[in-house]
Amino acid sequence: MTLSHSEFKAIAGRLIPNGQAFIDGKFCDAADGEKFDTTNPATGQVLASVAHCKTADVDRAVAAARRVFNAGTWSRAEPEVRKEVLLKIAALVREHTHELAVLESLDTGKTINDCLDEIGGEVPNFFQWYAELADKTFGKIAPTGPGAMALITKEPAGIAGAVLPWNFPLVMAAWKIAPSLAVGCSAVIKPAEQTPLSTIRLAELMQEAGVPDGVINIVPGFGETAGKAIGLHNDIDTVSFTGSTEVGRMFMRYSGDSNLKGVGLEMGGKSPFVVLEDAVLNDELIEHAAMSAFWNGGQNCSANMRQLIARPLVEEFTGRIIDRVKSFRLGDPLDPATDIGSMITKDHKDMVMSYIQSGVDEGADKVMGGGSDLPGYFIEPTVFQNVTPEMRIAREEIFGPVLGIMPTKSTEEALAVASDTDYGLHATVFTQDIDRAIHMARALPCGTVSVNGFSEGDIKTPFGGYKQSGSLARDNGTEALEQYLQTKTIWIQTKAG
Ligand code: NAD
Repeated sequence: MTLSHSEFKAIAGRLIPNGQAFIDGKFCDAADGEKFDTTNPATGQVLASVAHCKTADVDRAVAAARRVFNAGTWSRAEPEVRKEVLLKIAALVREHTHELAVLESLDTGKTINDCLDEIGGEVPNFFQWYAELADKTFGKIAPTGPGAMALITKEPAGIAGAVLPWNFPLVMAAWKIAPSLAVGCSAVIKPAEQTPLSTIRLAELMQEAGVPDGVINIVPGFGETAGKAIGLHNDIDTVSFTGSTEVGRMFMRYSGDSNLKGVGLEMGGKSPFVVLEDAVLNDELIEHAAMSAFWNGGQNCSANMRQLIARPLVEEFTGRIIDRVKSFRLGDPLDPATDIGSMITKDHKDMVMSYIQSGVDEGADKVMGGGSDLPGYFIEPTVFQNVTPEMRIAREEIFGPVLGIMPTKSTEEALAVASDTDYGLHATVFTQDIDRAIHMARALPCGTVSVNGFSEGDIKTPFGGYKQSGSLARDNGTEALEQYLQTKTIWIQTKAG
């Protein structure tokens, strides 16, 4: 049921967000009592005062997680028990969709429609899907002679740390929490400092669903404090990080400098949207092009910001995408008529604006956007044409609504330019020719290639990056379970006969 703008505002008016940490089944302040404010980026209004967790708090959370892990209450529970609890979490998230979506929209500046899609759909579906896997994941038996039986079994890795970004707070929390808990890990989660509130509220719902004390712990804080403490902790067995490539590198170092914990990295991108000359320029293609770039205000790791268009189609493509993008409405994220909300912070807006200036300085043609008169940190969707591969706006991740159109002469040139990047998260290809589609899909060095439509895949398909967009780990699909599992061989000598 879709509510009206005033109904969403009424829900916002009733919310009293909780900013406390959640450690060992209790909501609490940081050990030193320090707090920081989280604000609504669309208005600057302070939403809550949040516990600023540091090493001492992460230590407490890990000790609780270890105690319950070793006790086996969750880690060795019947898989059906974990399944029932995760299904209950899914049900509670669905029951509280409106409240959680409003909280997410206030804390992030994302549109209420996007928040409803994510929290009414993807988040509970995640818990449900991994719940269903809990009692359907089997080990293997190796082929041996009659003198032995060799079992290949999977065991929970132990304590899973997760450090999250601000652009999809509750979705990212679900991506890490659902598979780690499904296999029996205990978890210590650090939401991004800009957007801790929905993850803290999720902890309340998880407790209500019956997750035992200590199995899930939330330690809000900053990267240099809580994030680093997780990365360097000697009793965390595996850490799953989503965020920038720069910080992802640090997690590799933290692991080397501490206990060599497993590290799963999902990081940045500079993904291409390739339109080959045989593609049909219809409304559907233009819609995919626009959404691939401007969904979530461009604050999306797989945003297709380099749009490589076959030269004969460039003029028509440019005109049509401008017409489509002009109809996007910026404004109050709680208004269901709004298409694009606020950038996350003033610093982030300033950074995006500096990229727009660099595009102008380097000679690209800005054909629309680039500013906003609204208070808050809004930026109008911005389109450049005549972007060339060496420009900064073509090479660096901007993480804002800045689309660059790059004309290409041939399929091979499109492939070469699309591949010429340090990143490798995603690519979209439009063509009517099945052979070209398969050639491009095989040749593009990235974790997801989407043909004739922009899609990141769904719960069932692994998501992650090649090159500096990721480690070999994947989120989503059955592949995500591997981040939270150890493999054990049990070799049993048997009497032949
Ligand atoms: P970020 O790297 O600045 O922060 C991510 C998390 O790391 C936050 O929780 C932050 O507090 C923490 N952190 C920051 N510095 C740290 C440090 N020194 N030690 C330990 N932890 C630290 O990224 P962001 O700005 O929150 O998110 C944007 C980035 O995330 C973009 O690059 C985007 O592409 C990427 N992202 C990737 C995916 C994916 O699945 N590949 C999804 C969403 C976002």
